[in-house]
Amino acid sequence: MMKNIRKTFFVRIVLIFIALILIFFVGYFVFQPAKIHKLPLHVQTVDCDRSKYATAPICPSNKLNDPNSIQLMHAQINGLKPFSTDSAFLKQVDKMIKKQILEKVTENRFYEIKSLTNSQPYLIPEAVDMLNEIGYRFQQRLKEKRDTIYRFRVSSLLRTEEMQTKLTHRNRNAVTQSAHLYGTTVDISYKNFYNTATDVIVPSWEAIQMLTRVLIEMRKECRLLVVRERKQACFHITVVVCKNEETKKYSLVD
Ligand SMILES: [Zn+2]
Repeated sequence: MMKNIRKTFFVRIVLIFIALILIFFVGYFVFQPAKIHKLPLHVQTVDCDRSKYATAPICPSNKLNDPNSIQLMHAQINGLKPFSTDSAFLKQVDKMIKKQILEKVTENRFYEIKSLTNSQPYLIPEAVDMLNEIGYRFQQRLKEKRDTIYRFRVSSLLRTEEMQTKLTHRNRNAVTQSAHLYGTTVDISYKNFYNTATDVIVPSWEAIQMLTRVLIEMRKECRLLVVRERKQACFHITVVVCKNEETKKYSLVD
């Protein structure tokens, strides 16, 4: 009799235990918060004092008005040989990616890419690192100020001569000798930003201020050359590459 009671008690405990485990698992899968999709974003940056060791001369500045001639000089030293036509570029692109002389630029948690009509979403790896660094610092500064988190919008990247010619007819800023031909140069729009909280694209004075601050900061460090193009409402930015072989690898994902 006593043995039977003990056995029933034991069975009940086991059943309650199993039920608790089931409730836990069902609850976990039903009520778990939406997973945040983190993109792998490993940034490899060659770290050096670019005022001394860049591949082309550059002096620190706190102004966003680097002339095209200087941007072009850096672009020509560090970038690709320009492609005359879109089809010539498309024939070569896979090979260049394999050789790691070109990278496809894809959207991530720092920026969006506007629908591109006159450029291709590719840059040299150093320019991709620079773009990610701008995005990382931009969002860090917004976080520090407890401001809304925005993503900026990339409006132009690599152009072929064919694309550049089409653009020059409509756009006075697109000079024949554009730094965009070399894969070293990118345009970031300041007209609108993607507001991550409301999921809408909006103009934002705060975001413009913060982006400007980050670009001045990185211009002082000689990380980039930049000019504010008012007609296009964008920053036209060319990467400054370090010739120092010592590479410092780090990740922007914490
Ligand atoms: Zn540009």
